[in-house]
Amino acid sequence: MCLKVCKLSAKPEFIEAAKSGNVLARKCTKCGEIHLATVYYCKKCGNKGFEDSILKGTGKVITYTIMTVPPAGFEDLAPYAWVVMELDDSGIRISGFLPKISNPADLPIGTLVKITGFDERGIVLEKQ
Ligand SMILES: [Zn+2]
Repeated sequence: MCLKVCKLSAKPEFIEAAKSGNVLARKCTKCGEIHLATVYYCKKCGNKGFEDSILKGTGKVITYTIMTVPPAGFEDLAPYAWVVMELDDSGIRISGFLPKISNPADLPIGTLVKITGFDERGIVLEKQ
């Protein structure tokens, strides 16, 4: 789980991209490996050069946890699902919140979702 921690580590440009429905990633200039977090060396080839890469924030649900009893400070937001989604274009996995999910029937694995914003909880998702 990462709630407030995620927000603190998210960069303004990442948040702006999320609000536009996109994911800002770092692409290795040598091998093309995509990294979500800021890294100093490519985890695949060791290259130190990166360029910004905007990924479309659409994909499918891989797994999730339903939060009916949320952490302190998030009480008014429950129930919601903390979702891990796999992006269509890159296969990159990213996590975010999907509001108003209270039981598994609301969200079958494989449901198509998209990024719609970023708030105090982190990335906000909705069903496509
Ligand atoms: Zn590389």
